Formats: sequence, C-alpha cells, structure tokens
Amino acid sequence: MGDTLWERAQRVLPGGVNSPVRSFRGVDGQPFFADRGEGPYLISEDGTPYIDYVMGYGPLILGHAHPAVVDAVERQAARGIGYGVPTRREVEMAEFLTHHIPGLDMVRLVNSGTEATMTALRIARAATGRPRVVKFAGSYHGHHDSLLIKAGSGAATLGVPDSAGVPSEIAALTITVPYNDVEALEDAFRQYGSEIAAVIAEPVAGNMGTVVPDEDFLPAIRSITERYGALWISDEVMTGFRVGLGTVASQRGLTPDLVTLAKVIGAGMPVGAYGGKREYLSLVAPAGPVYQAGTFSGNPIATAAGLAQLHEVVQPDFYSVLVMRTEQLAKGLVERARRHNIPVSVHQAGAMFTLFFRDTPPRNFDEVNRSDTEGYRRYFHLMLERGVFMPPSPFESVFVSSRHDAEVIEKTLAVAEEVFQKL
Ligand code: PMP
Repeated sequence: MGDTLWERAQRVLPGGVNSPVRSFRGVDGQPFFADRGEGPYLISEDGTPYIDYVMGYGPLILGHAHPAVVDAVERQAARGIGYGVPTRREVEMAEFLTHHIPGLDMVRLVNSGTEATMTALRIARAATGRPRVVKFAGSYHGHHDSLLIKAGSGAATLGVPDSAGVPSEIAALTITVPYNDVEALEDAFRQYGSEIAAVIAEPVAGNMGTVVPDEDFLPAIRSITERYGALWISDEVMTGFRVGLGTVASQRGLTPDLVTLAKVIGAGMPVGAYGGKREYLSLVAPAGPVYQAGTFSGNPIATAAGLAQLHEVVQPDFYSVLVMRTEQLAKGLVERARRHNIPVSVHQAGAMFTLFFRDTPPRNFDEVNRSDTEGYRRYFHLMLERGVFMPPSPFESVFVSSRHDAEVIEKTLAVAEEVFQKL
C-alpha cells in the first residue's frame, strides 16, 4: 500500500512494462502511466496532458480516440467481440489493401507486425527452398528468432543473436548488411546467392530513427533479388499508410514479392497483415502447404477500427495537409536548434521523422550511432517537463497525426525554442 504504480508494475511485470521501449530506459527515465488520449494529447494518470508524438508508435494517424474509429469499435463490440467464422469486413479490408497497393494480389490478416514478418519469411523459404535471409543493420522487423539479429557493421556479416535464447544455428541463417549499402548487398549475394530466400527491408527505415533510403537503394534490392531468384519483402509495418497512401514501394512504382503491414491499418488495435503476389499467397494454408493461423486474426473489432481509419486517410488532401504539418514541425525544430548552435539534422518521410543530434543526416546504423545520444536524452526530458512527449529513445521516429493542427505544432515549437536555449 502507498506504493506508486511504477513500483507495483516493477514487481509484477518484467522491467515494469509489457514492451521494452515503454520503460524509458532509452533516455534513463521513468515512464508515466496513461489515463486517456484525446486527439493530439495523451493525459497521464496524474492528469498531466502531453502533446503526443509517439502516437502508440505509429498507428494513431487520426490522433487518439477519433470519433469515427471509436464509433466503429463501439458498434461492433455491441454485436460481438470475436466469432471464429469469416466476416464481411475481412473481405473489405483485403479488398481495400489490394486496391490501394498495386501489385498486391492477396492478403492475410494477422495480429501484429511480428506475425506478419515471421510468416513472410516462412513463405519465402517455402517458395525458394532456401534457408538464408538478408536484413539490414539497425532495422527491426519484430521479435521472432530469424530477424532478431544484431545490427552488424562493415561488410556483410553472418548473424549473431541480439537476444538470449535465440539458437546460434538460427541466427547464422540471417545475413546482416548495412542500410543503403548496395555493394555489401551484392557481396552477400555473390557469396550466398543460391541459399538466400529473401531480402527483408524497411523501405524507409524507422527503427534506427527515420532514415530515408538513397535513390538507388530500393531499385537495387529489387534487381538483385530478381537476378538471384530471391524474394524481396518490403516491411511496411511502420511506413504503410504513414509515409503516404499505400506503401513506400508502391509510391515509388516498385513491386516487392511480399509486403508486411500493421500499425496504421489497425488504427491502434492489434493488427498486422502480409500480402503479395498470388503465386506466393497461394502457398498459405489452407490453400497451400505453409501453415499459419490465428484465433484472433481478422478480429471484427480490429477490422472495424482499421476500416474506419482507412476511410478517413483516403479523403482528398488528407496526406498533403498531414505531411505539410509534419514538415513544419521537422524544419521548425532544426531551425530552432541551429539558432542555438546545436548540431542537428533530420530525415522526414511523410508523417514521420527523426531529429538526429548530429550535423548531417545519417545513412546507416553506424552513422545513427555516431550522434549525441546524451544530447537527445536531455532534449527528451526538457520537452517532457514542458508537456511534449517525444519518443523515449534517440532511435525511434516521431509520428504526427491529423489532430496535430497548426496551433499544436506552434505550441511544440515554442517549447522547443525554450528547450534548445537550455541545452
Ligand atoms: N516491422 C517494423 C518495420 C516495425 O516497425 C515493427 C514494430 N515497430 C515491427 C515489424 C513489429 O511489429 P509489432 O510490434 O506489431 O509486432
């Protein structure tokens, strides 16, 4: 009795949380507990409102508790929370995604981004009969064994597990290459090409902070994988319907073999999806031999929320206004920091960005790591003390919602001005 919620949490939850980044260890802090969300604001248990730029780590592109999403959830909940037989909205969701993402023939709904990438790999291995997979250093694709592999530096390196409990035999099948390094990717294929099932890539990196790829990077992934008969999996869990309508690959006129989605398509509900070419999706059970299933997959409340949100993002000018506001914030932060002689740079992609505490935008994880993480830590806490919740780690992206209007952005910049003066 008398213990704080955080003390109680630490007794019964590992590290006090249900997902590591929430612990604020990335900024040597202690988390606040949420009571409710309202538009651009997250309100803590003790009643403090924060302008929220974490936005549930990406899904909440309409802000917290958008009336259309809340209404869809309430109406569905009253009709049942889960059925275990197909529903109309599962079909509508798959039709929506295949309509808005050229080259996506079929989709399977799952419950998280992790599930989506895990199965995409399984399909690639089944389709090619090959065991190895290539990922890029500093990219996160979920917490299953094959992709939880240490971000290696330098040329292509064989994987080392990033977590205890991952057998080295499994980790050894994952080849890690620096982001934006086409030559290293070529090298990996020269060495292991006949054994590589897939290259999985975030088409705009978001998990080492936002890093926009060089112009030739994604086309190179497409052509190299094609040349060697490997699949290209575009992991758009973070970027899908966040950078703009559809996927980054589709916006750039590229067609991956498989695409993974989550976050925005679920509006904050636990949702993921994988999709792609018909020949690959036809391999999935019960149509084919690749097994994947889920009690909650295509859950009616999740599809209700997701479709309600997606209905809003396809409205005319939705992304142009959102991206303009995001740019106003990103550029405004850089200007104010530089005015106070703090070396910063930014990568922005649509409605996400990262402010890096280094003078030039990084191109890969090594460069990301060569930024002033102590500077970021101090910036985070000074912003939080003044009512602005920035990502609690220098390696996460800022997410802007349609409820961050001009006034909220201006308020944020005014706070930042004060903070940069102190830094
Ligand atoms: N892929 C990417 C690109 C992600 O950003 C994430 C989560 N941040 C995942 C996969 C894993 O998704 P989830 O947390 O829903 O399992």
